[in-house]
This record gives sequence, structure tokens and C-alpha cells, in this order.
Amino acid sequence: MRNEAEVTTSQEDRERFIEVRKSEIHGNGLFATCDIPKDELVMVIEGELISREESLRREKEEGNFYIFCNGEHYIDTAGSGKIRHLNHDCHPDCEVMEAEGKGLCLVSARDIRVGEELTIDYGYKEIYESCNCPTCRRHLSPRT
Ligand SMILES: [Zn+2]
Repeated sequence: MRNEAEVTTSQEDRERFIEVRKSEIHGNGLFATCDIPKDELVMVIEGELISREESLRREKEEGNFYIFCNGEHYIDTAGSGKIRHLNHDCHPDCEVMEAEGKGLCLVSARDIRVGEELTIDYGYKEIYESCNCPTCRRHLSPRT
């Protein structure tokens, strides 16, 4: 159990409590190094602001899957530090939301315990076809 006192106030983002390390889902992932309560700002999603057309072009022509959007803003995070390592889970513990004055943010969708991987639902149709996320693996794995 972690000491609650290590947790910062809700106004601050928690990016410094997020570390990048090898993930069982895919490549590297983002992991919490402290407990994060539900509905907290985890980190601000920073990157290059692009148009919808440019986003589609980059996905198609450059195979760039690091673009976040909320229907209005498209942010290419390929050049950003941590956020591009965020993996997909069909039952994610984070979601991307628009925060007043901060643009797109990663917000905890439930209580996250120290050591858990941070995930979002990518929402692409293709991702569900051969999904290897922990939620799908649990459903597919034979009973032992
Ligand atoms: Zn899945």
C-alpha cells in the first residue's frame, strides 16, 4: 500500500508518476507509479495539432497511429515523450477528454493502482479484430 500523501492535488497532472516500460500488450506501455483515483487528470496530451484530413493522410500514408482526436482536435503525438506509448485495452482504465483550457487530456476512468498499465480504447474497428489486450486474452484463454 502506498502512502496517500504521495498523491498530488487534483489540479496537477500526474505525468511524473507515469513511467514507460515494457508492456505485455504491445511494445512499451505507460505504468502508474502511484495510485490514481478515478476522474483525475493523468496527463495533458501534447503534440502537433493537425487537421482531420492531415490526420487521415498520416495514418494511411505514414502508418502513424499516434494521433489522438475527440472529433474536433487531432493531435499527432509521434514526436511526444510518453503519451505515444499508451496502449489499447477493450476495458480501459483511462479515457481521453477535453479539459477546459488544456486541450486533450488523459483522465483516469476508474481507480488505478500503482503498477497498473494505463490504457484507453483506441476505438478503431481494426483493433478489435485481432486484439491482444488483457481483457480479450482473459476471454480467449482456455480454462485451467
Ligand atoms: Zn481487446
